[in-house]
Amino acid sequence: MVKLKRYCIKYIRDRAKSGYVKDDKCFICNEFDDLDFHHFYTLTLLLKRWRLKNKVEDEDILEWRDVFIAQHSPELYEHAVTLCHIHHMKLHSIYGKNPNLGTAKKQARWVNIQREKHEKNIINNRTTFI
Ligand SMILES: [Zn+2]
Ligand SMILES: [Zn+2]
Repeated sequence: MVKLKRYCIKYIRDRAKSGYVKDDKCFICNEFDDLDFHHFYTLTLLLKRWRLKNKVEDEDILEWRDVFIAQHSPELYEHAVTLCHIHHMKLHSIYGKNPNLGTAKKQARWVNIQREKHEKNIINNRTTFI
C-alpha cells in the first residue's frame, strides 16, 4: 500500500519551488534576511479542493502534480509575496496557519497596508531627525 497522504503537498511544493520568483527583500519592511515565500491561496486547501473535484488518489499524485501546478500557476507564482519571517508569522497569526481561500484578497490588502504603515514610519522617523 502506498502511503503518500501527508506528503502530497510536499511533492507539489518540491516541484513548483523552482518557479517561485522570490524577492531579495521583505515586501513590507525591506528586510534582506530570513525571507519566506507566502502564498495568498493556501496550497494545502487548493490541493484538497482540486483533489476532491478531480477524485485524485494519493498514489496518483506524482502523475497529477504537473497538471495541478499547470492549472494553478497564478495561485502558485503570482498571488504570492516575499516576506521576512517576522511579517510572515504575523500574517499567519492573523489569518491562521492555513488561511481560508476566501481570505486571499484580504491578506493581499493587509500586506499592502503594512507596507504603507512601514513607509510612513520611516518618513516620520526621518522628519524627527531633521
Ligand atoms: Zn518584514
Ligand atoms: Zn505563509
